[in-house]
Amino acid sequence: MAGNTDFDLYRPSEEHDELRKVVRQLAEEKIAPHAAAVDEEARFPQEALDALVATDLHAVHVPEEYGGAGADALATVIVIEEVARVCVSSSLIPAVNKLGSLPVILSGSEELKKKYMGPLAKGDAMFSYCLSEPDAGSDAAGMKTRAVRDGDFWVLNGVKRWITNAGVSEYYTVMAVTDPEKRSKGISAFVVEKGDEGVSFGAPEKKLGIKGSPTREVYLDNVRIPADRMIGAEGTGFATAMKTLDHTRITIAAQALGVAQGALDYAKGYVQERKQFGKPIGDFQGVQFMLADMAMKIEAARQLTYAAAAKSERGDADLTFQGAAAKCFASDVAMEVTTDAVQLLGGYGYTRDYPVERMMRDAKITQIYEGTNQVQRIVMARNLPK
Ligand SMILES: Cc1cc2nc3c(=O)[nH]c(=O)nc-3n(C[C@H](O)[C@H](O)[C@H](O)COP(=O)(O)OP(=O)(O)OC[C@H]3O[C@@H](n4cnc5c(N)ncnc54)[C@H](O)[C@@H]3O)c2cc1C
Repeated sequence: MAGNTDFDLYRPSEEHDELRKVVRQLAEEKIAPHAAAVDEEARFPQEALDALVATDLHAVHVPEEYGGAGADALATVIVIEEVARVCVSSSLIPAVNKLGSLPVILSGSEELKKKYMGPLAKGDAMFSYCLSEPDAGSDAAGMKTRAVRDGDFWVLNGVKRWITNAGVSEYYTVMAVTDPEKRSKGISAFVVEKGDEGVSFGAPEKKLGIKGSPTREVYLDNVRIPADRMIGAEGTGFATAMKTLDHTRITIAAQALGVAQGALDYAKGYVQERKQFGKPIGDFQGVQFMLADMAMKIEAARQLTYAAAAKSERGDADLTFQGAAAKCFASDVAMEVTTDAVQLLGGYGYTRDYPVERMMRDAKITQIYEGTNQVQRIVMARNLPK
């Protein structure tokens, strides 16, 4: 019987395996040593940015024609997964560079792509994504930020909230209402630059986890930008924003996968060292069963995530379901596995002397951003597999 060759598409190639080795080594040598301090001091992981830029891993998704590495969706997932395995805050660098710039790649004019992808690919600029607002989170189409046409310009006013890497990024994809009558079809997308007059940032949010990733409000106060900074046609911004999320939710699944794997790897080593009742706790079947369950869930999440990455790369019709499913499943797994890792370290796991409590705090965000897991279930229910 002929094999189902579709399975091959879910399996990393030799090149993907090679990439994983390179990223793992880089992550362990250059990023992991700073992860605890980045969390403790709630500071930007500059060492991670420098290491990722030096090895061209900071925005691997940028197509070759615009000066990028042209990595496919699975390669991008592997980079994010391996960085998140040691430091989730740092994994937001490649992840949000993709999130912020994908609207331009998917829907932008050739001029916009040429102008903005080059600096991103070189590591001279990062890209953020501005959809959420103080009163428009899950109901993103309820946004209030306005863009009004003025001759050859658009003038933007409003507040974007929870913007990852705000203040650090040079470029911002901003969704704004251009026709309030049309709700989601009256929303357009624009590229705003940090240096545009009228752009400013709020204080960094004080968060539970991913403390090294700056999250700030972005204020747009009469920001006047040339009309050719609109991404795609007027009124298509919300559709572009949602299409972007179909692809990038898989990168959140990758973060979840990475942090879960990091917690399992740590716990696996710990249970061999820690002795109680005269033997390593890893000899107890109750502990072994926990590790088995953790590994089983991670493997299921990995298969779903890699399958979704293959669908993203091919542009399959069921990508919306699969991307939401991968993000939702992998993030729930990350929360369970990191919580179990804390449990396996007992009292020590509950302290900052060990990395698993940071991993547990960091895992939580993957259930919330790019749409909460309730929102993922809404998305899946509306796009059930045929
Ligand atoms: C650290 C961090 C970084 C972020 N980065 C970015 C970024 O870079 N760019 C960006 O645009 N946004 C970003 N976000 C925003 C994020 O995507 C939103 O927080 C998220 O979409 C939820 O919106 P909300 O916080 O307003 O919650 P709400 O929408 O108020 O939801 C509150 C609760 O109600 C539930 N709920 C809401 N509606 C329904 C429904 N219909 N059915 C069932 N349950 C529902 C939610 O699931 C949730 O549990 C970030 C958020 C955080 C915390």
